[in-house]
Amino acid sequence: MEAATQASAGETERPVTNPADGTTAGAVHVHTRDEVAAAVVRCREAQASWATLSYSQRGRLLKRYRDALLDARDEITDVLCLETGKPRADALGVELLYVCDAIGFWAKQAGRYLSDRVERPHLLRTKRAYSTYKPRGVIGMITPWNFPLVLSVGEAIPALMAGNGVVIKPSSETPLIAELCTRIADQSGLPAGLLSCVTGSGRTGDDLIDFVDMISFTGSVETGRKIQIRCAEQLKPSTMELGGKDPAIVCRDADLERAANGCVWGGLTNAGQVCISIERIYVDERVYDPFVEKLVEKVSALRQGPPDADADIGCMTSESQLREVEEQVEDAREQGAQVRCGGRRVEGRSGFWYEPTLITGVTSEMRIMREETFGPVLCVQSVSDEAEAIRLANDSPFGLSASVWSRDKQGATNIARRIEAGAVCVNDHMVHMLIPEVPMGGVKESGIGRRHGAEGIRKYCDQQTLVVDRFGLRSEPIWYPAPRGRERIFRRMLNVLYRSGWRNKLFG
Ligand code: NAD
Repeated sequence: MEAATQASAGETERPVTNPADGTTAGAVHVHTRDEVAAAVVRCREAQASWATLSYSQRGRLLKRYRDALLDARDEITDVLCLETGKPRADALGVELLYVCDAIGFWAKQAGRYLSDRVERPHLLRTKRAYSTYKPRGVIGMITPWNFPLVLSVGEAIPALMAGNGVVIKPSSETPLIAELCTRIADQSGLPAGLLSCVTGSGRTGDDLIDFVDMISFTGSVETGRKIQIRCAEQLKPSTMELGGKDPAIVCRDADLERAANGCVWGGLTNAGQVCISIERIYVDERVYDPFVEKLVEKVSALRQGPPDADADIGCMTSESQLREVEEQVEDAREQGAQVRCGGRRVEGRSGFWYEPTLITGVTSEMRIMREETFGPVLCVQSVSDEAEAIRLANDSPFGLSASVWSRDKQGATNIARRIEAGAVCVNDHMVHMLIPEVPMGGVKESGIGRRHGAEGIRKYCDQQTLVVDRFGLRSEPIWYPAPRGRERIFRRMLNVLYRSGWRNKLFG
């Protein structure tokens, strides 16, 4: 959870911390309610002209924006690293790459996903019916700190391609990158204010809800619940991309080398601060020992260091999240779990450093196996067979994503279908995030709605049905004056439609 989300009264500026050394990285203005309202008005004005453009015109302008982002890639990398502490390669190769790819993808696909669908009414043959998509207006995007570029600007791209304006409320831990990239948007030729940003605390997000037409939220379950209640009070649409506690199931016949490499990366990349990080590994007891041996070796070999050290793993982004990790690991240790590597705050280093950690001997009752950890910690539990693995994997309020590791792809796919999660990968983890053709999102407490795929752009639209009369008769059978003996006519009609030999052919 973001620390100290509510601004204190009268606060006009919020400092931003460099998590790699604990120094101050900068500060952002705390937008007042009136300033939030003004940003939405400005965005709405820009959106009015933006919505009149064709998909290809929007795509062209967004590609110009992409050029401007690429021109600024060094500054973008610097700012991302400064406020998150992630390795420079991850800032560039994951965050900026995602946004550039998203612009190309949605510029090409938006028209296809949002084109009018013509329907031939099965009953009212004299009508032509279309289902169409219209932009909702201004989308408020409330975002977290773990991928502050992907989840703000990256998620804004389909909303923009659908013809909306977007006002981002970034996390107060990492607001600088959204500030920079929305400034670049204004300079790149996009209508001024179309993609903009308001900064501050949770209260700023709360204010934003009141002025926009829809909320797209990514963050914790706790905040998501509050936001959805507020949206419901105003009957405002919202989508929720929330937390996770991803399981990985390692079967008896898994390629242990690939599974171990995949689990270490899938659990510890971005210092484990990924909603779809592997946090629970269930391993068949027949391969448990050799698998754990491989994990110990690989986790111990990870290089941890500051953004420019070309390390595998950086620091954590938030002090409060680091404390959460410390508490969960201590709780597991006290209850008898074994810390096989790591398990401590890095000594002698200022900033938010926690060692890459591997824990065995955990049980399903421990906090570390039930609550989202969101840190560089892998927990491994032995299971007797796949049925037990599936039962434990599903024994969670979360259902974001999961993975199954086995040489038998068909068998693994069958297991995958029985897991309660929005996405399951076989012999890989979290790669669905990089396949925008398929939907991504959660079940159970992990969320409502999807990013990516058709749903990932249609959610930013109001659906409108158009019905056009084909023949222009003077009147219709159901209009006035009501024909005499109407009841008799309908009786016969019901018989003809649903009791005669025609029924299966025409009306089902
Ligand atoms: P958070 O819920 O604390 O904050 C998210 C955003 O909500 C921030 O911008 C914050 O300022 C804002 N906010 C807080 N209180 C608010 C309120 N009352 N009204 C309006 N806005 C408010 O989450 P976080 O700590 O920034 O992020 C970590 C969480 O995000 C984890 O649970 C992680 O799993 C989740 N996450 C989910 C996905 C996904 O796609 N499902 C992706 C990334 C992160």
